[in-house]
Order: sequence, then structure tokens, then C-alpha cells
Amino acid sequence: MTAHFNFDNRYASLGVPFHRPTLPTPVAAPLLLKLNHGLARELGFDVEALESAEGAEILAGNRIAAGSEPIATAYAGHQFGNFVPQLGDGRAVLLGEIIDRHGARRDLQLKGAGPTPYSRGGDGRAGLGPVLREYLVSEAMAALGIPTTRALAAVATGEWVMRDRPLPGAVLTRVASSHIRVGTFQFFAARRDEAALRRLADHVIERHYPDAAGSEHPYRALLDGVCARQAALVARWMQIGFVHGVMNTDNMSIAGETIDYGPCAFLDAYDPATVFSSIDRNGRYAYANQPGIASWNLARLAECLLDLLDPDENRAVEIAQDSLAGFATAFHQAYLDGFRRKIGLTQAREGDDVLVQDWLGLMAREKADFTRTFRALGRAAEGDETVLAFADADGFGAWATRWRARLDADALDPGQRRAQMDRVNPAIIPRNHHVEAALAAAMEGDFAPFETLNAALAEPYGASAEGSVYAALPPRADEPYRTFCGT
Ligand code: AMP
Ligand code: MG
Ligand code: MG
Repeated sequence: MTAHFNFDNRYASLGVPFHRPTLPTPVAAPLLLKLNHGLARELGFDVEALESAEGAEILAGNRIAAGSEPIATAYAGHQFGNFVPQLGDGRAVLLGEIIDRHGARRDLQLKGAGPTPYSRGGDGRAGLGPVLREYLVSEAMAALGIPTTRALAAVATGEWVMRDRPLPGAVLTRVASSHIRVGTFQFFAARRDEAALRRLADHVIERHYPDAAGSEHPYRALLDGVCARQAALVARWMQIGFVHGVMNTDNMSIAGETIDYGPCAFLDAYDPATVFSSIDRNGRYAYANQPGIASWNLARLAECLLDLLDPDENRAVEIAQDSLAGFATAFHQAYLDGFRRKIGLTQAREGDDVLVQDWLGLMAREKADFTRTFRALGRAAEGDETVLAFADADGFGAWATRWRARLDADALDPGQRRAQMDRVNPAIIPRNHHVEAALAAAMEGDFAPFETLNAALAEPYGASAEGSVYAALPPRADEPYRTFCGT
């Protein structure tokens, strides 16, 4: 059976300097470890064909499907605040674009496909652990309803990847509405290539912000659009306790999807200063810093667009500043709206922000488990406050009195309220200890824990999720959890 892909490649047609044609480097022994059937069908693929030996060869980069035009894309980026004028796909090859069942354009990319012109001395490969980690967490994010790149497949290469120790190699097939980043704009701005910058902006407008095309100021509408999507996205991260961990400008998608699942992790105990990444020593990308960093990154994007925003430089700066102010406003609105729903309110009232902040303050002082505490608050809303056994019982009691009064002013019966809270307060998130256990077992050849965790993460909000082992409190850890990227 032949795997058939309806490629329709636009980014490839932009040519050099946007990318370099780059073939994936074949691997020794492709073995399909995991295929995302639901996503495959959404993309219009034949699941059986992808599961055939030929399918595994395509997903490993050993065989190039008809219509694919493999390229490595160019981008720059601020890494931890330092500008690097040339990064680019150092270990990823874009196979091409597909129009999915809903008519949406999606990138198909192999991550870990071998060296590219942008590898800068790296081997272009990925380890099995990080590939499975990205698979689990990106699919969990999708199930949580958060815009994200997706994982279509994980393939073992049959080769070793040399890191601080040899690791089994793997290739991830990543699907994104595009892989264009803030750093893609920075690449051309740094080279002062205004023609390319304009082509890129036009491409992004056509692909991701079609409404901007009809606007009086399309580039301004583009910047406003990117700011709006990032505001909504980062607010969602905050509401589920997600710490991205490496919010470099090259890891910020222009389409507003979560991208780059290297060192990310979810909060267990609520502490706004939480940092998981071993290389983020100054806490630049701590949980609470994420909105500010998003704004900083968008300012870098705005700088790239200045010449397109207005011929008058002062005017262009004003427009950019308005756009960034729009990000701040939209973020605060989305943040408050989301947390208001998480505490069971459906209508906006004056003072809701204080009620939310006081609740979060209480949770922080208690080091309350972020996910379980919000979920339990849904039960408390129905009447059972015993589920929230705070050490500071008086503090909680005082807050709960204000909360109950506020709930009474909101037209919902307790059952409806609980149901609406359960729709925004997941019972299951990819807990760090479960992710680690699943990866450790997979490294030993046992994929059962990976499969059961992946299946549980697909239904994070349902009533059945509450009784799952994956919803339980994590064991007390002696050491803070650490993540590592670049493996
Ligand atoms: P990241 O920290 O994942 O955003 O990656 C930053 C840059 O390093 C990107 O340009 C990657 O393509 C590149 N990179 C990461 N790992 C490798 C590798 N093993 N080989 C080549 N390039 C890599
Ligand atoms: Mg990256
Ligand atoms: Mg990465």
C-alpha cells in the first residue's frame, strides 16, 4: 500500500534565502513506535499505509514521498536575551505542506532528521526520550484545548545519538499550522533584507491572518494579530500551570501555537517563581515571567516590522507601541476571564481580579497543587468545602465567604457551575513524575506506560479522569524537578 500525501508547498516556493533544500539523512533501521491515528485521519492520511514499512521509511526520512520538497528553514533568534543572527532548522526538515480535512494548511516536519546547512556543528539528531516527551506533552496540550504544534509519529532510528551518554535515536513528525517564528522575521531584519521581510510578512498574512489583507494597514493588522494570539496563548498557559521553559524568540510561533517542547513542564505545587529548565539559571522563563517575556519577544517582532508599519520612523514606533499595549490589555483580559471561569464565575464584575489574586496568593502560600486545587474548587462550589483542607483554614474561610457571596451574584445553579468549572479545570495534566516514568520504561523497550499515559491525557476534563492514577498528588520530591533541552 502506498502512502499518499497531497502536498501543496508554499514556503518552499519562496526559495533562497528563506530556506535551503535539504534532504533528511537516512537512518539505519526505521521502526514506527507510535502513530497518532486521529491526527493522521484529520490530515487525510491512510493510517494503514503510514503503518507499513514504506510509511515508517517516509516518517524516518529514508524515503521521500511524492510531492514533498524537503527544506531546512532559516531563522534567527534571541536566546535568553542574546541575539543570534543565524539559527535555522538545525535538526529539522520540513517535508512540505498539506491541506487537512478541514481545509487548513499544515506543515509536516521531521525533527531529528540529520544535519542541515543550519546545524552549526550539531548532529541534527534527537534522542528517543525527548521525542516521546514532545509527543506526550504536545498531544496533552492539544487535548487541553491549547493551540499547539502536534505530534503525528515517533520513529526509532536504530542508531545511537551521542550526548553525555549514548541515547537511542528517534525522529518526531511534527505538524504545525506553520513553523514561521518571530525569529524568522529577525533573520531578514538583521540582514536588512527589506524585500524578503515584506515577502515573509505577505506570506504570513495570506496564511495566518487573512483578515489583515483587507485592512487599511495590513502590516499593522498583522502585528496586532500576532499580539492578540500570543496574549490568548500565554493566558492559557498560565491557566493550566504550563511553564514553556525556553521562550526564545525562535521558539515563538507567528501563528500563535505552542512550539518547542524541550524543557517545558507543568506546575505541581503552585509557586509563581517556578523554573524547571536546568539551563535557565536566572529564572528568565519562570512561570510568572511568561507574559512579560512574550511582550519582550513581540517588541522584537515589532522592531523587525518598523519599516513596513510606516515610512515615518516616529509614526512607526508609535504604531508598534500601540500594538504592544494591545498585547498587555488583551493578555490581562484573557488572564482574568480564564481565572474567573476557573473559580466558577461566568459574568464579569468589578473586584473579580482581586478575588482571583487573593485566591492565587492563598494557593501560593499553601504551596497547593495547582491542578488538583482548582479541580477541587469545583466540588467546593457545589457545597463540599472539606475537599480544600488548607493549613491556613482561617485565610481560606475568609476568602471562601467573599467567594460564596460573589457566586450568589452569578446566575448559575451549583450543578451547572461545577460542570462549567470542570470544563476549564483539568483533572489530568502530564505530571512530571508520570512523564519521566513513561519515558524510562520506553527506554527499556516497555511502551505500555507511555501508551496508557497518552490515552489518559486525551481526556483531561472528563469525570472519569478524576479517579485516574494520573490525577493523584505527586509523591513528595527531595529535589526540585529539572528539565534538560537540546538532547
Ligand atoms: P532550541 O533550543 O530547541 O530552540 O534549538 C535552538 C537551535 O539549535 C535551533 O536552531 C535548533 O535547530 C538547533 N539545534 C538543537 N539541537 C540540535 C542538534 N542536535 N543538531 C543541530 N542543531 C540543533
Ligand atoms: Mg527551537
Ligand atoms: Mg528545542
